[in-house]
Amino acid sequence: MIVGAGHAGGSVATMLRQQGWLGPVVLLGEEPLAPYQRPPLSKAWLKGEAALDGLLLRKPEIYAQQRIDLRVDTRVVAINRRACEVVLADGGRLRYDALILATGTRPRVLPVVGADLPGVLSLRGLADADRLKLTLGTATRLAVVGGGYIGLEVASAARSLGLEVTVVEREERPLARVASPEISAFFRRLHEERGVAFALSAEVAAIGGRGGRVAAVELGDGRRIDADLVLVGIGAVADMALAIDAGLDCRDGVLVDQACRTSDPSIHAIGDITRRPLPLYGREGRLENVQNALEQARQTACDLCGKPPPAPEVPWFWSDQYETKLQIAGLPFGAVRRVVRGNPAEGRFAVFHLMEDGVLVAVEAVNLPGEFMIGRQWIGQRRVLSPERVADAALSIKEVAG
Ligand code: NAP
Repeated sequence: MIVGAGHAGGSVATMLRQQGWLGPVVLLGEEPLAPYQRPPLSKAWLKGEAALDGLLLRKPEIYAQQRIDLRVDTRVVAINRRACEVVLADGGRLRYDALILATGTRPRVLPVVGADLPGVLSLRGLADADRLKLTLGTATRLAVVGGGYIGLEVASAARSLGLEVTVVEREERPLARVASPEISAFFRRLHEERGVAFALSAEVAAIGGRGGRVAAVELGDGRRIDADLVLVGIGAVADMALAIDAGLDCRDGVLVDQACRTSDPSIHAIGDITRRPLPLYGREGRLENVQNALEQARQTACDLCGKPPPAPEVPWFWSDQYETKLQIAGLPFGAVRRVVRGNPAEGRFAVFHLMEDGVLVAVEAVNLPGEFMIGRQWIGQRRVLSPERVADAALSIKEVAG
């Protein structure tokens, strides 16, 4: 039984069948539709450039064909581990032999007065995206609180739709938590060139209203940013209430091993909610991305079907803003040196993160898919690189390792 029908839950259902699981597969989802991809929600979907068919992870008929009992509009409110059953919001109970938790994250709430005013939105699921899309169609001034991926991707879509946009970020640079200073500087300039204003190192004191609707974001230093739409994208928190209430070991995420087993041998957890081993980096962490959802779905399907564990993968992410593609492979843990390859001013460059001994641990590539692809392989191989060769644009990326 799978609780949560997002990218992780939807994927593990079909992977179980691929790996030979013969028993029943029940997939419980809170939302009213079959599993879909979230990445387009902050990009093409907002601009009306994506259709629902293209958003769905799989054609709806696949579930019946593969004997996957997909139940939408179904919320699980508790897990009774002793009885091996889940309790549904309507009071129903379902027994499980093996349980997979894939409940994902929910948006962090902005803890200020006025954050509940109409016109203050967040973005997680399709219903949020539809609400945002509708409001973007009538609003003229958008203030985005949080300069992370959601904030910058929505800022990019909103500029394309002609809105005035200000991004409010409490760090001194956008993408501070998820990218290097070089990448932040590039994206800040890119957005500024497209007319986005930034309020950096800025704390939101309150959201001001007029006539029962949002009218401004008020900053701690007294500044006021007029806005008829506010999007809050200040990070995500693991939705692990079910796991905590059931007594599973949790610490900023549900703790799992390399096979996604939780502290209860009959319960696996996958996707954004997990704090998982990162074998390439000798530590653990929580990863919020599609690659992690798919990798853990595969690990779980193999484990439950008695198959050999898949080889560990290099984490990777991407973000599309305007016509620019950012691709990140690896994580910069342990890196002491950043080497820039290419020219940020030309909009094509990459930042290589090296450890003391030259081992490559992460690559951030802007409009350089070759550097991203090869960098990802090299990270998995723990390749040692020379900083001078990485920076030498006269060498092709394949010659860099030479
Ligand atoms: P995020 O990437 O964590 O960025 C949130 C940013 O908001 C951080 O820089 C954070 O700074 C800042 N912040 C926090 N509280 C603030 C406040 N009160 N005022 C101003 N700024 C504040 O999270 P996100 O952009 O909201 O994304 C949410 C989830 O969606 C994540 O799981 C993300 O990976 C996922 N997502 C991913 C993509 C992609 O991979 N392309 C695209 C969209 C969404 P601090 O670090 O100081 O807290």
